[in-house]
Amino acid sequence: MDYKKLASLLFSHVTETPEETEARFPRRNLPEGAKVTRIAPSPTGFVHFGNLFPALVSERLAHQSGGIFLLRIEDTDEKRKVEGAVELILSAFRHYELGFDEGALANEEGFGNYGPYYQSLRAHVYHVFAKQLVEQGLAYPCFCTHEELEASHSAQEAAKVTPGYWGEWATCRDLSLEEIEEKLASGMSYTLRLKSPGKPGGRIRFTDTIKGDLELDENFTDAVLLKSDGIPTYHFAHAVDDHLMRVTHVVRGEEWLSTLPLHVQLFDLLGFRRPKYVHIAHLMKRTEDGGKRKLSKRHDPEAALSFYQESGYPVEGVREYVMSVLNSNFEEWRRANPALDMKEFPFSIKKMSASGALFDLNKLDDISKNILALRSAEEMYNDLLAWAKTYDAEFASRLEQDPAYAKAYLGIGRGGEKPRKDFARLSELPQAMAFFYDDLYKVEDELPENEAVRADAREILSRYSALYSADDDRDTWFDKIRTMGEEMGYAARPKDYKQNPDAFRGHVGDISAVLRLAVTGRKNSPDLYDVMQVLGYERVANRLNQDLF
Ligand code: GLU
Repeated sequence: MDYKKLASLLFSHVTETPEETEARFPRRNLPEGAKVTRIAPSPTGFVHFGNLFPALVSERLAHQSGGIFLLRIEDTDEKRKVEGAVELILSAFRHYELGFDEGALANEEGFGNYGPYYQSLRAHVYHVFAKQLVEQGLAYPCFCTHEELEASHSAQEAAKVTPGYWGEWATCRDLSLEEIEEKLASGMSYTLRLKSPGKPGGRIRFTDTIKGDLELDENFTDAVLLKSDGIPTYHFAHAVDDHLMRVTHVVRGEEWLSTLPLHVQLFDLLGFRRPKYVHIAHLMKRTEDGGKRKLSKRHDPEAALSFYQESGYPVEGVREYVMSVLNSNFEEWRRANPALDMKEFPFSIKKMSASGALFDLNKLDDISKNILALRSAEEMYNDLLAWAKTYDAEFASRLEQDPAYAKAYLGIGRGGEKPRKDFARLSELPQAMAFFYDDLYKVEDELPENEAVRADAREILSRYSALYSADDDRDTWFDKIRTMGEEMGYAARPKDYKQNPDAFRGHVGDISAVLRLAVTGRKNSPDLYDVMQVLGYERVANRLNQDLF
């Protein structure tokens, strides 16, 4: 077979040689040991939380070594393309401050010298290398129709052999040049397939950076390289792009291990140096029966990266949580270095686990609580407003109507030695802070169980209402409550009541509970003195004087 002739027949439009293409994507001029990494999401309209793991690993590897971290959009699958999906990816990664050095931008080729960074804009590049493979007798056109492929697939199933285009099922593998010319002349469409040198039963050895030495089945199927519209498959595009973009470390989920034999075969046949592969284990979720399963897009809302933004988790909280899963020594480091930027942490691939980590929302909550607790009222206000503008417009307008008031209530319990750690997500705040607004305030909880307290509730309010002054300092405020309680037969200290319950109607805590319920509508609230200070005389007095209980 005259492969050169076949190549020019199929790729008459390709004028560039592989050498010329290589020269357009020169080796990068980077310091010794610098790593070039990428994330290469497909715009499917859904960004999985799990995507953040390879993203963060890639970012750390590149930036810790003085290398480059780039974003490539793998949009070769027309069928999976979704309107707005690229924007979704870009905004998700922007939100987590991943800091790309190169790559795709919305509706543009992108920035950097190794673009375009959209695979759909790189067809000419793939064709240069497809042509080379044909010239070398390593790829061929396949004219099989969808129906023919389906039929052979069924036959393979019936015969219980590995499905795929190989052996006797690879009917276009040995077409003569004349046959091919004839089919082309009759206008038949075709895909371009790899002529795999692999053999059934063959094994390959491979070393994954995390999983270590692996022995895998060799690829022996003639995988499609270019689809009938000339657009490459993911596998072929991966090899060409990661080579030309001079990527040194391919970090991705372990679901790609199954196609790895094809990928390394492609790198070898194309004469490209293989990158290092870093396959990350899946994030697992504990099931009710104590087992484990993958975090699922269908069943778990927290599988979507957007869930964390919608919930208002602080960006650093999510990033730190991911880092704590990636490197188990991160938490210890964080405890020893509470004030350092996370980027100072010496992230290491060696410390990554080869098996799936358990997803733990409670841990994320704890990390986030610690982070939100350290925010100033001003920062909290800004974060909350930014969040609410997207997810709770009504609350955003309340915040903007009276920023000083909002900052006052957001400041309660902040700034001291032991700041309050009660919020993990900003989305908890509109509910938690609702009682600061008269139109949202309502009595939501019950009075304490104690019958005597229930009977006295009205009197507690009316007596206190006569005593209340907004000018009282904390001690005076508390003295009033305690003394009033004592006059009504309530122990000044809970301890006294516990030791001798028959001698009292209740204790000072019960008095506060009644006041708290009237003032906030709830049985739990931030410090009551502070809350009353922020609410101010009029609001408090009105609430005390209602016809409650
Ligand atoms: N486009 C692939 C994806 O959607 C990328 C896999 C890789 O990182 O090589 O996950």
